[in-house]
Amino acid sequence: METIFSKIIEGSIPCNKVFENERILAFYDIEPAAPVHVLIIPKKPIPSMNEVAPEDLPLIGEMHSVAQQIAKELGIAETGYRLINNCGPDSGQAVQHLHYHLVGGSKLGALIG
Ligand code: C5P
Repeated sequence: METIFSKIIEGSIPCNKVFENERILAFYDIEPAAPVHVLIIPKKPIPSMNEVAPEDLPLIGEMHSVAQQIAKELGIAETGYRLINNCGPDSGQAVQHLHYHLVGGSKLGALIG
């Protein structure tokens, strides 16, 4: 399924890139919810966490590693951050292409607890 993120991956829609390799792209969210708000997406068109298959687990692990690296590079590794995945209607997932939000740079409000 074509999404806004598949168009960003193919380059027909621009993005403010933070990281890219053969498997993963990371770019600044156009509507930042925090001082640092980066989206980390696989180039493989996985619609959501529900469709992650066992063979995708190395890719998911690499996305976490990329998040860790970006947090360090953007100076929020020590102050703290959240790595968020929205999956399905109740979460508010708007784009049907798997993504993590890396958010930080200020005190974040409590979601749980
Ligand atoms: O998790 P969810 O699907 O709601 O998040 C999608 C995110 O993609 C939103 O935070 C939105 O601002 C972002 N977005 C973007 N660039 C686009 C379209 C959406 O950064 N061209």
